[in-house]
Amino acid sequence: MASLPNGAAATGSSGAPAVDKEVDFANYFCTYAYLYHQKEMLCDRVRMDAYHSAVFRNAPHFRGKVVLDVGTGSGILAIWSAQAGARKVYAVEATDMAEHARELARANGVADIVEVIQGTVEDVVLPEKVDVIISEWMGYFLLRESMFDSVICARDRWLKPDGVMYPSHARMWLAPIRTGLGDKKMEDFDIAMDDWNLFVEDTQAYYGVNMNALTKAYRSENEKYYLKSSIWNNLHPNQVIGQAAVIKEIDCLTATVDDIREVRAQVMLPISLDEARLAALAGWFDVHFRGSKQNPAVEEVELNTAPNERGGTHWGQQVFLLKPPLKVTRGDSVKVSFSMVRSKENHRLMDMEFTYELHEFSGKQHPAITTKMYLE
Ligand code: SAH
Repeated sequence: MASLPNGAAATGSSGAPAVDKEVDFANYFCTYAYLYHQKEMLCDRVRMDAYHSAVFRNAPHFRGKVVLDVGTGSGILAIWSAQAGARKVYAVEATDMAEHARELARANGVADIVEVIQGTVEDVVLPEKVDVIISEWMGYFLLRESMFDSVICARDRWLKPDGVMYPSHARMWLAPIRTGLGDKKMEDFDIAMDDWNLFVEDTQAYYGVNMNALTKAYRSENEKYYLKSSIWNNLHPNQVIGQAAVIKEIDCLTATVDDIREVRAQVMLPISLDEARLAALAGWFDVHFRGSKQNPAVEEVELNTAPNERGGTHWGQQVFLLKPPLKVTRGDSVKVSFSMVRSKENHRLMDMEFTYELHEFSGKQHPAITTKMYLE
């Protein structure tokens, strides 16, 4: 999944967010109540093929078993689980999409197996523990939307001790890339500021009020929007100019909310292209369906959202602009310190900081530069 909500949810003073449910519903869940949004996910072939293979190539994990689908949306994963032979599927969905899921299960002849329950998974009470938890919880750059928190909650409450998670593992990646997106964003920013300056002149001329006192605030609002927010893009693999590195690995069976609340990593990214402009870093993720140690998958399946010449996924990649860009050549390395924490205003959005430092092949080391970025 990957929705585009924005706005604020309340946070507590303790660090762990005290989420205001109504605000969260208005800002986050509402988008998932639209079929057009569910359809966008259902049309993502890479996503669909991965989950479909994961279920049907591992049918023994489902046959005769009890399954919980966290965030069933249209019901697709619950229906597949039933078709693969599950004895019972609890399909939990917070939004009114639950009604559509119910209808779809009926129309596909699995209403006796798929029980759709409308509510948040944090609140529902199931009559029994489950053998499998399946969920498509991944947001942009894996953790945006913080939905994995809900999967952890469901796992701790309802998964049997020898139960299996679908997916079972997740990883976040960072890579050095070349892109013209920074120049484009700079142009857009300049256009927005030129337009503001005209607006200030016009408002003074026609209405006798000088708006210039707000120019600084307008500038910083637009800087955040155009220059400091990460950018969604489906990159071509040849835009990646060096080695990608894993910055986070998650074992879905054991991870806690504390493990994912913050991501911190330090990586060396070797450059593999002669003469390139390192304009940004790109972030993406993959997840794996491996079953568990006791119950390994018959066939391991991967869902990968890396740059791909065949088009990619609805998640694309996130582009983090580096200001300034660096001239790099083969043999150079970029040392990156990365941190990502949840935004104070909205726990489903992320604040990031990158410190990057060029180590030339010759041994020359450049000063470290720090850039803040928002994943909104
Ligand atoms: N499983 C579907 C939908 C994935 S999108 C598919 O693969 O196509 C994620 C869905 O989870 C959304 O419909 C959203 O409303 C729901 N969701 C997110 N957090 C939830 C929670 N805590 N409890 C119940 N549903 C949730």
